[in-house]
Amino acid sequence: MENLIDLDKMHFIHPTSSIKQQQEEGSKIIFEKGDGIYLTDKNENVYIDAMSSLWNVNIGHGRKKLAEAAAEQMEKLAFSSAFSTFSHEPAIKLAKKIATITPTGLNAVFFTSGGSESNDSAVKLVRHYWKIQGQPNRRKIISLKRGYHGVAAASTSVTGIPEFWGMAGHLMTDFVHADTPYGKGTEKAITSLRHVIEEEGPETIAAFMAEPVQGAGGVLIPPDDYFKEVRELCNEYGILLVADEVITGFGRTGRMFGMENWGVIPDMMTFAKGVTSGYIPLGGVVVSDAIHDVLKEKSEGTLFHGFTYSGHPTAAAVALKNIEIIEQEKLVENSRKMGEQLVKGFQKMKQQLDIVGDVRTIGLLGAVELVQDPKTNKRFSSDMKVAPKVIDALHERGVICRAVTYESTDIICFAPPLIMEQSQIDTLVDKLHDAILFVQKQLG
Ligand code: PLP
Repeated sequence: MENLIDLDKMHFIHPTSSIKQQQEEGSKIIFEKGDGIYLTDKNENVYIDAMSSLWNVNIGHGRKKLAEAAAEQMEKLAFSSAFSTFSHEPAIKLAKKIATITPTGLNAVFFTSGGSESNDSAVKLVRHYWKIQGQPNRRKIISLKRGYHGVAAASTSVTGIPEFWGMAGHLMTDFVHADTPYGKGTEKAITSLRHVIEEEGPETIAAFMAEPVQGAGGVLIPPDDYFKEVRELCNEYGILLVADEVITGFGRTGRMFGMENWGVIPDMMTFAKGVTSGYIPLGGVVVSDAIHDVLKEKSEGTLFHGFTYSGHPTAAAVALKNIEIIEQEKLVENSRKMGEQLVKGFQKMKQQLDIVGDVRTIGLLGAVELVQDPKTNKRFSSDMKVAPKVIDALHERGVICRAVTYESTDIICFAPPLIMEQSQIDTLVDKLHDAILFVQKQLG
């Protein structure tokens, strides 16, 4: 075990981690196996995976059917390319399946290996779409402050969390960030978005890109009418609406896709994570029939955009099995029902604990905010590290969770597997209550 920690320090550069902390303290937990909603580490400690790892293990851990689907496909045809119009059955079937389950009019899929690649592809596709229609000046992408869209070249710039910009030195040009509707309300957010569009020049804007619910920004659920108004604004100015469904797709919010909560149909949708429940990397971009028609009619020569693993047959076979399980086990409905139970638990906890502020869920995507004064919403100072302390207390109580602390917030995020049962929701809430109480007492 110690040997593994030493080797980790010597050779493993971790994603989105403090290298200093890794070197000083070693890796936090070395996981060994997963089963259902639980993860087990090398020391046989068992944890509830209350984040579905990275918002992605939607059907839970240890599903043999997915392993079998991968093995079967690997034995038959582990990989072959989809470049130069080569094709294979798993990718064709998956594209068809995704067309069937996405909202009306979204019927053609470009595959990638993850969320960042999907969002970079969406940026290039919308620019290509405008260019082949004789509007090459429509290049700008507007997205939301506190939105997270990944870490590749364009997706870093689409992301509205400044902490992610530093490593690239500066943002790429033609990316603009508008106010989040969260805490602002639809009217103000739409007025400010209209202002941004007018200021930038509507004829220079290619697309507005947003997550239906801002996940990594702190599970910021928009007001119910926000995206309907965004859709109308986009129509008014001829701007494409791109929904980043990387977290919200495949049942997370109690609907198959997040935008369905408000009956809004985007022009493009990016997805990843839940499409395979994280068992194997896969992502993609779904485009509307109108966009597909333009691509079919006006694209000349080769579309110079493609990843080696676009439409990977093994990943596609796993995705097909994963979606089959989501449908057969009615996990979208379960996400909705259990989300309602989870928020009830949060609300009860809020009545009993002094430092619990806003609590919210949409399906099995939720958050609990910790504040100094719930009446005024006064925040703790960030050096008190209240949310990280609760995360540590949760670890000790056998729950893996995640804190968001941008802009001095203390938000505990939740995205447990969609297979959660009532008794597991109750246990999770009890452990959270206990962990917050422990930290609250420490604060005096
Ligand atoms: N978009 C959203 C909404 C995400 O939450 C993430 C990752 O958390 C991404 C994009 C990036 O996905 P990936 O890490 O697979 O590149």
